[in-house]
Amino acid sequence: MADDIRFFELNTGAKIPSVGLGTYGAKQHGVIQNTVTTAIKVGYRHIDCASLYGNEKEIGSALKKLFNEGIVRREDLWITSKLWCSDHLPEDVPKALNKTLQDLQLDYVDLYLIHWPVSLKKGSIVVTPESFTQPDIPGTWRAMEALYDSGKARAIGVSNFSSKKLGDLLEVARITPAVNQVEIHPVWQQPKLHEYCQSKGVHLTGYSPLGSQAGENVRKKVLDNPVVKMVAEELGKSPAQVALRWGLQMGHSILPKSISEARLKENIDVFNWSIPEDMIAQLSQIQQERLGRAEHFVHDSYGVYRTVEELWDGEV
Ligand code: NAP
Repeated sequence: MADDIRFFELNTGAKIPSVGLGTYGAKQHGVIQNTVTTAIKVGYRHIDCASLYGNEKEIGSALKKLFNEGIVRREDLWITSKLWCSDHLPEDVPKALNKTLQDLQLDYVDLYLIHWPVSLKKGSIVVTPESFTQPDIPGTWRAMEALYDSGKARAIGVSNFSSKKLGDLLEVARITPAVNQVEIHPVWQQPKLHEYCQSKGVHLTGYSPLGSQAGENVRKKVLDNPVVKMVAEELGKSPAQVALRWGLQMGHSILPKSISEARLKENIDVFNWSIPEDMIAQLSQIQQERLGRAEHFVHDSYGVYRTVEELWDGEV
């Protein structure tokens, strides 16, 4: 099979590398620098960052060293970052991106996302009921559009938006979001959101493609799923590779996170082989479960979401 699905073309015309490195966690000193450096050396060209992850400075140091040593060029990398919920006020949006750019030691990001459709009081990192404020997504999006116009964010998008929230945004957006980054893996395939995004030209990126860092028992729901394991055995691949390759074949970019060199290599070894259609059909029959329900954004008297169903507009 030809060398396939290395990139997806966004509605901006830019090509997003289909496998990106997740950088959530990995907060111990030096770990993320080593991880980013190793990942780039073994072939990753897309790094998924966020100010929330608290490690953009360290990632910036690693990138600077890689550029200085001529290991990779800025123009050959795809860097995503995300606007945290406490920076949704229009005047805070450009400041937040400037801070991210300063920490990453970059002039622009390839993609900047509204991290959640949730607003918090300025300075809130930890989510408490008292920190919720009323979201004004249209106002925040206009500020995101200005960042796109300025060239500091070469594409803009959203994350954790249901079909309904994305539809509401599309009604007022001057610039259509290029990407919606959401939880997707064989145990949470999101076919409705997939179809909706496809019909609107919004690319879906799958986060937690291996089942997340919520613990071995949660990850097992994906990696020990009997259908995933059966396909892996049939194809001589690992369950993680099957979960990742499934995402690519569905048309999603994927963001596996690993701090281990062996797993970084394993997770990018998802090209030049494919899951046959009959096995894709079997994978589509897996019982579905949203693993990251984000209950911390839901409160019965604070904030705007009273239930998990409201947060996800029934897509649970
Ligand atoms: P994930 O990538 O689904 O899983 C990572 C976990 O799987 C780690 O514990 C990792 O351990 C382990 N792992 C990695 N490769 C493996 C393999 N081949 N076999 C078995 N286990 C393996 O989890 P995630 O970090 O939740 O999601 C990935 C990225 O998506 C994040 O890092 C972040 O960039 C992004 N994300 C975005 C949002 C959002 O709201 N937009 C939310 C969640 C995540 P080792 O590190 O020890 O290998």
